[in-house]
Amino acid sequence: MKTKQIAFVMAPRPAHWVGDGFFVHNFIPSMEGLSMQDMDPFIMLDYNAPRQVVPTDMPGGVDVHPHRGFETVTIAYEGEVEHADSGGNGGVIGRGDVQWMTAAGGVLHREFHATEWAKKGGTFQMVQLWVNLPARDKMSAPAYQSITNADMGRYLLPDGAGLIEVIAGEYRATQGPAKTHTPIALMNARLNEGGKAGFSFPAAYNTALLVVRGRARVNGRNVETDHLVKFTNEGEDFSIEATAPDTVVLVMSGEPLREPIAAYGPFVMNTKQELLQAFEDFNQGRFGYLESKR
Ligand code: MN
Repeated sequence: MKTKQIAFVMAPRPAHWVGDGFFVHNFIPSMEGLSMQDMDPFIMLDYNAPRQVVPTDMPGGVDVHPHRGFETVTIAYEGEVEHADSGGNGGVIGRGDVQWMTAAGGVLHREFHATEWAKKGGTFQMVQLWVNLPARDKMSAPAYQSITNADMGRYLLPDGAGLIEVIAGEYRATQGPAKTHTPIALMNARLNEGGKAGFSFPAAYNTALLVVRGRARVNGRNVETDHLVKFTNEGEDFSIEATAPDTVVLVMSGEPLREPIAAYGPFVMNTKQELLQAFEDFNQGRFGYLESKR
């Protein structure tokens, strides 16, 4: 096995608001770094770095909007997110939990800070990833997986280095609970200072990591908090060593779909015709109904 090469280390871009609840650094797609194709099947990565939310009776968020053709994966690192969709699914995910929402053929949903959590306020930190679906599954039935922290696969690293929380795919035969449409690995490395973990993914898989807390050395290179590392498609193995206490690194790797992408706003299809159809269907009310929160 060969060492995976680092293509680049990317600093967070200036943050922008998504609705009035999520203040995010956009890593994918971004002008300078990563196109939707570069990290295929991961077509978007928004990162809400730790931020204080003042106590309020009017939680911030994004009201009813549609999606079609892909999955939204929300990882709550701090704070709580409340979700509801037109498929009748919903709920609250809290610290360390993940919500895996498969829009597929189409849903309406809304995403807010959880009502009860917002009343007290606190630190909010979140990642939202968009995982593209293969053409054969883009118009399939929507689905929803609520993955609590306790549901995740847990691999204890030797020598008190820390643990790997497996959301999807596997780490040294420890499986993650998420059902995926194509091969995807998604996991948190929670490392103590000086703790080290090795990873191995096929060279062809698009692979990146995001340091969400602490600081790490990746293949010997220092990476600061809130920075993303993109690997090239050469080699399989890399290592992460925490150089600060309580370090958390989100690791993602996936087999590219290698299909054409026609994307606009909340729709990600394969052709322009399918994109126009999505707008038509949405305008005709074919995505169902969901009551607005405001
Ligand atoms: Mn959404």
